[in-house]
Amino acid sequence: MTGYSGGCQCGAVRFRVTSKLGKASICHCRMCQKAFGGLYGPLVSVLDEKDLSWTRQEPKRFQSSNAVKRGFCSECGTPLTYEAPDGIALAIGAFDDPSAIAPVIQYGIEGKLPFTDHMADIPARSTEDDFEALAFLASIVSNQHPDHDTETWPPVKSGQTENT
Ligand SMILES: [Zn+2]
Ligand SMILES: [Zn+2]
Repeated sequence: MTGYSGGCQCGAVRFRVTSKLGKASICHCRMCQKAFGGLYGPLVSVLDEKDLSWTRQEPKRFQSSNAVKRGFCSECGTPLTYEAPDGIALAIGAFDDPSAIAPVIQYGIEGKLPFTDHMADIPARSTEDDFEALAFLASIVSNQHPDHDTETWPPVKSGQTENT
């Protein structure tokens, strides 16, 4: 498969990769934990930067070390990139279809949170299993950008015209 799209939660930043992706990984280092606000950082490398285009805004960048910049949406905060002198990697969860990008290597395991080895063993349930929350769930209106490219975003609300 060639050609991938993705972006941030609010849709202000969208990207497209027109070639095959490189190696997909998770990084357990403390800087990735912080940058993602997560238990580890899931990233996939872009083989050739000219095949990556930002189709809306570009991410804002934080220089997390003398060598590396971390890109994120300045509107909603979604972590999006890891940019080093030897190349750029994109956050796997930001892709429109992250299920197509399985990690094949773990980095930075000296920083690994021990319980991440046992995630599959902890009790699990689906959102719909929580009957008491069903009414609340039914009332939710999502502001998240859909998992595909859109002509305009956010969508024009009824009663609004395009130019106001
Ligand atoms: Zn955003
Ligand atoms: Zn890392």
